[in-house]
Amino acid sequence: MTTVNQAVELILETVTSLPSEKVAVAEGLGRVLCEDVRARRDVPSFANSAMDGFAVRWSDLAGASPSKPVSLRIRGEVAAGGVSRKRVLPGTAVRIMTGAPVPAGADAIVRVEYTETHGERVVASRTDGRGSHIRLAGEDVRKGQLVLERGRVLSVADIGLMASIGKAAVRVRRRPAVAIVATGDELIGVGDRPAPGKVVNSNGYTLSSALREIGAIPKSFGIVRDDRSSLAAAFSAALACDALITSGGVSVGAYDYVKDALTDAGVRMRFWKVAQRPGHPMAFGHRGRKPVFGLPGNPVSSLVCFFLYVRPALLKMMGHENLFMPVVRAKMAHDIKTAPNLKEFIRCRLREENGRFLASSTGTQSSGALRSLSLAHGLIVAREEQTLLRKGSHAPVILLDHRERWLQREMGF
Ligand code: AMP
Ligand code: MG
Repeated sequence: MTTVNQAVELILETVTSLPSEKVAVAEGLGRVLCEDVRARRDVPSFANSAMDGFAVRWSDLAGASPSKPVSLRIRGEVAAGGVSRKRVLPGTAVRIMTGAPVPAGADAIVRVEYTETHGERVVASRTDGRGSHIRLAGEDVRKGQLVLERGRVLSVADIGLMASIGKAAVRVRRRPAVAIVATGDELIGVGDRPAPGKVVNSNGYTLSSALREIGAIPKSFGIVRDDRSSLAAAFSAALACDALITSGGVSVGAYDYVKDALTDAGVRMRFWKVAQRPGHPMAFGHRGRKPVFGLPGNPVSSLVCFFLYVRPALLKMMGHENLFMPVVRAKMAHDIKTAPNLKEFIRCRLREENGRFLASSTGTQSSGALRSLSLAHGLIVAREEQTLLRKGSHAPVILLDHRERWLQREMGF
């Protein structure tokens, strides 16, 4: 049977990165940069004040102190957005606000807290030195400088940086449109009456959110009944997208037609069982280079398989280099029995103990128990040959909830 590692390898060998596209810089967050970005201008583009105060000639104030303050004549004022036509001549000052261009002749800003004004005059009791509180042109970014290298995942600060150099559009890797087809005669929509035997298509919601979280574009193809020809028709239509995810119908039940229907739709199936728990009935195939993930119907299996297989494949298509979820080593808080010959992923909570992670199971590991995944901070990974993770021993834990919230609480920030 296919092992988890073989499955990941085969999937990653199959997919290739999508072409690039140009998007408005505001749409660039989280996208992989496909060009080197050079500054077309200095930032700041002009010398400006970092303080509210007075633009002065430092030599006028070099000896100023609270016991020997210096009086200067105020020649004018310049606010952010304005330009001073007045030059700072010896013995004079120009009132200046934060962000305003430094007037000619000035070589220091005296902050307003060090001054007193008396009508036309300002008395300064000290300065912070020559050049103080002047942000020079090009101090942050020099014209022509390489500021962002291709391959980078654009961060919030990167977006602002590009805007600051006047870059309105940016070339990034395209995001895949991913079809989701939920299969099952029992499935109903979230607003439908919960009749006997019916189950809400929660996977449709889980998977579309999981796609959105990594920057892919979910395309829901609704619920399709367990009927081979309806399934094949739905899959053919869904294969217009860049990738296809199906949910359910891949195990050995009498109505599990998904593999056959995928084959009918021209998909070359590569495996349909992986030595793992949860997520044993996990299928993978492709039409050309277009990947098709046949995820199990059980909600936990479905999402775990998304994390293990779909996520890295789509990240690769989006040009990412970092394909895998963060992993930490954790100490087991209690004995955990695991299945032989399967790689097992045990939902766990983590807490901090003497600067180390301590992992305890969330309890039931049923592949239908989605709440235990909702409670989980991570997935303990038990290797195929292991059958017991002993209390006090260490194991890798895939972090699910790495958005600092619980880390901050546990670490006491
Ligand atoms: P299957 O993989 O089709 O054999 O389904 C396994 C289990 O998962 C069954 O209990 C199904 O009712 C449940 N299931 C299948 N599809 C979904 C879905 N889209 N949302 C929630 N549960 C599902
Ligand atoms: Mg089914």
